[in-house]
Amino acid sequence: MKVKCPICDTIDDIRSDSPLAKKLRNRRKHLYLCPTCSERIGENTKKRHATGNFRLYKEKKQDDPFIS
Ligand SMILES: [Zn+2]
Repeated sequence: MKVKCPICDTIDDIRSDSPLAKKLRNRRKHLYLCPTCSERIGENTKKRHATGNFRLYKEKKQDDPFIS
């Protein structure tokens, strides 16, 4: 089946009996991302997580009555 990456408009042909194809058919929200974009998004997500963790850690420290 043909799938289009919504980010860079690359059209890939994936096996229709592959697990990914089944996932795409079952869940409409699941978007196909080409390997390049999924890698890039994965990196961004990791970065965002790192920032989030850092903020969480800072807030926790400020709210802790035993530290200050
Ligand atoms: Zn792409």
